[in-house]
Amino acid sequence: MTDEFKDLLAANRRFAESFALAGFDGIAHAGVAIVTCMDSRIDPLGLLGLKAGDAKIFRNPGGRVTDAALEALVLAVHLLNVDRVLVVPHTRCAVASSTEDELHERVAASAGMDTTWQRFHVVDDQVRTLRSDVRRVTSHPLVPERVKVGGFIYDVDTGLLDRKV
Ligand SMILES: [Zn+2]
Repeated sequence: MTDEFKDLLAANRRFAESFALAGFDGIAHAGVAIVTCMDSRIDPLGLLGLKAGDAKIFRNPGGRVTDAALEALVLAVHLLNVDRVLVVPHTRCAVASSTEDELHERVAASAGMDTTWQRFHVVDDQVRTLRSDVRRVTSHPLVPERVKVGGFIYDVDTGLLDRKV
């Protein structure tokens, strides 16, 4: 094995020196689950004033309520103490500001091959998509009514959440 991960493993050893989460139960202590984008400008815990242990976090391009996200949320609300779910796409998101063709063009330029067989789930209307994503959660037969679900757009320039649903 080569050492492409050397810096990160060194940082991990430093992290483990003051590790305080041993024996932790893994439930969401604040009762919160967040579905948000993979975008590196988003600090899901920080933006809600939460810390490690407080929330379940599910991320993907665009912060979409996919089948995998629903799978995570069903587990979260039944087994992991979650009673509030935030769906949080964000401003200046690549999947909401590009067309599928544009993304294919850019990835193809990087990959040096045709990419049309790889689906990218672009979003035309972010608020409309957010509404239907929230509905996917609230109408899921395994998400009980006690669970509150909100849809918010996170502004990557101000750090503020704007509730839309
Ligand atoms: Zn994004």
